[in-house]
Amino acid sequence: MRMIKRFLLPLLMLAGFLPGCAVHQTDIKGFNLISLQEEKQLGMKFSAEVEKQQAMLPDPEVQNYVNRMGRRLLTGVQVVEFDYTFKVVKDNSVNAFAVPGGHIYVNSGLIKAARNESELAGVMAHEISHAVARHGTRQLTQQYGFALVSQLVLGQNPNVLAQLATSLFGQAGTMSYSRSMESQADYLGVQTMYRAGYNPNGMLTFLSQLESMNRSNPGTLAQFFSTHPMTADRVQHVKTEIAQLPPKTYSENNTEFNRIQTRLK
Ligand code: ZN
Repeated sequence: MRMIKRFLLPLLMLAGFLPGCAVHQTDIKGFNLISLQEEKQLGMKFSAEVEKQQAMLPDPEVQNYVNRMGRRLLTGVQVVEFDYTFKVVKDNSVNAFAVPGGHIYVNSGLIKAARNESELAGVMAHEISHAVARHGTRQLTQQYGFALVSQLVLGQNPNVLAQLATSLFGQAGTMSYSRSMESQADYLGVQTMYRAGYNPNGMLTFLSQLESMNRSNPGTLAQFFSTHPMTADRVQHVKTEIAQLPPKTYSENNTEFNRIQTRLK
């Protein structure tokens, strides 16, 4: 057995099972050099930095609402390994992002752009799925190397951490994942919405709403599109996946959603 292990690992690595290589949609435990515990530590450092650099929306009602939606979506996640946090950033551009360790941020501009609760749930489910499949730490180790990420976990490089928080998650942040990670986040996001009782069509209608918004007013969406390239097959995959789900009665509270949206306008 030991012999097999000794030879199997390098072989697997040669075969392309390295971080950042194609991920399988259902496999959330892909190859990751960073342990769960390390990711939790790194996530706390990054989220503290993000909240130093960006203003959180000073409205407890909106914050509580998004937090409640996040908790409900987590009921649709098969394995919850992090202490998730859900916060609203005071920023009018349409964007949302996940910091490693389960820290999910939604811009107030995104809540304004959504047309109903399931559209907002769709974006949140997608970001939660990046965290569930730990795409952030996989991508970081691939982009910056394991040594640097370990230093950040240990707090040895606070200046680099601050710089990375700006360039990855800041107002012009571009934490970009591979295409297969994006497609996995869509796939898991639909499953999560379905299990939590949100209509997964919300993800689909929001994608097309964004496309038309982008045509009429590209400025506000530049960041979202640079990190989430909208491809025709992305939309098609989500469509096909939804079509295969058994029928179900969904529940969404649009009275509350509208009240929250009015508070933002
Ligand atoms: Zn994404």
